Formats: sequence, structure tokens, C-alpha cells
Amino acid sequence: MFVILMGAQGSGKGTQAALLGPELGLMKIATGDLFRAEIASGSDLGNQLRTVLDRGDLVQDDLTNAIVRAKISALVDERAAGGEPAGALFDGFPRTANQAVSLDGILADFDESLTVVIEIDVPRDVLVDRLSKRRVCVSCGTVFHTESNPTLVDGVCDRCGSMVIQRDDDKPEPIARRLALYDAQTAPLLAYYRDKGILVSVDGNRSVDLVHDELMTVIRERATS
Ligand code: AMP
Repeated sequence: MFVILMGAQGSGKGTQAALLGPELGLMKIATGDLFRAEIASGSDLGNQLRTVLDRGDLVQDDLTNAIVRAKISALVDERAAGGEPAGALFDGFPRTANQAVSLDGILADFDESLTVVIEIDVPRDVLVDRLSKRRVCVSCGTVFHTESNPTLVDGVCDRCGSMVIQRDDDKPEPIARRLALYDAQTAPLLAYYRDKGILVSVDGNRSVDLVHDELMTVIRERATS
């Protein structure tokens, strides 16, 4: 089963993917997380990526596609060796037409195809509020919101005690840039998947639990149809 969660930055893809992955036995492939891990490793590639991410620009397609191919290849190997993953859940990928076409090709190479693409739809003013007030733990990645879900102690993660920060790309200029890039490059992919008959849209302006329940229902329906 291969599922894409689509939606603008702040729509809750990451939060939902963190819940769905373990529940459905799917490997989460979140390209933003993979890039941030590379940056944290301090490698030369990581240093180049930092500049791109801090600006809120997109990483080049070839590199992004190659990273995703490597993850899917590892998943297929793991399964062949009797391992767990029943498939993958994509969060933040694909973001361009080039990446969408590349993903179709990668899956076809492994005799796989997409099960469903789910758009998590959230009004723009809610997205900007969520992003600008979002805070994340540098260690475990838990997400907080300065008003609706603040940390108990300012700047300290409730879950693991590490530092909680505002991502550089959650500052006003990068937020505007990222949302503009979503409109220009990623939103058109919705039509691509709608034409293939695999797009489902859910209302993301509700509680995490309600959105989660609907996502589970949609994925279960599609997995058995
Ligand atoms: P995210 O955590 O999904 O918001 O991603 C953070 C940043 O990583 C983005 O603003 C881009 O700079 C980069 N990134 C993540 N996924 C992709 C992708 N599929 N293609 C290009 N750049 C990406």
C-alpha cells in the first residue's frame, strides 16, 4: 500500500503521518525530515541543503527523487527479507510535476502503484496561524503551538525535555515563500491525481483525532477496493 498525504505546509500532514505510519505498518517517507537529518549530520550535502531549506526554497528534483528511490528500494528489500513494512506513506513528497512522474516510475519499477492520494484541505489563514506559532522539539520532533498547544515550561519539550524552537522556515518571509511555492508547483498535482481517479480530499480544519479517523476510513476503503 502506497499512500500520499498532500496539503500545504501547516495542514497537519506530519502530525497525521506520525500517527498513521505505525498504525498501518507503513514506512513514513517525509523528505523534509530526511533533509533535516542530513543537515544535522553536518555533512557537506547537509550544509548545502541548509541554505535551501532556510530560504524556504525547494531542493532540486534529481536529488529528492534519488533519496525517495533509495528509501523505496530499501523497503522492498526489507519486505523480501520477511520484514514488516506493508508499504509507504509519503509526507511532503511529491511536490513538483517532475517528482510525481518520477514516483510513478519508481513504483512501477518495483511492480507497485499508488493506493490513494489524500489532500488535507485547510483554509489559508489557518495555515499561516499554525505555521507562525508552531514550535518543534529539536530532538524528538514533537510539534507545539504557542497558543493552542504550548509547552508546560517555556522552550522545553514536554515529552523528552530537549529544547523547543521555531524552525527558521516558520518565520514570516519563508512561510510566504513556501505557500507561494505550494500554489505554483504542488497544488497542480491535485489535478494530476484527480484525473487518475485516486484523489480524495478531507477537511483538515478539525481536531487531530477527527482528521485521523477520516484518514483511516479513506485508506481502509481504498486498500480493499
Ligand atoms: P517540510 O518539512 O515538508 O515542510 O519540508 C521542509 C523543506 O524541505 C521544504 O521547505 C523544502 O525546502 C524541503 N523539501 C521537503 N520535501 C521536498 C520535496 N519533495 N522537494 C523539494 N524540497 C523539499
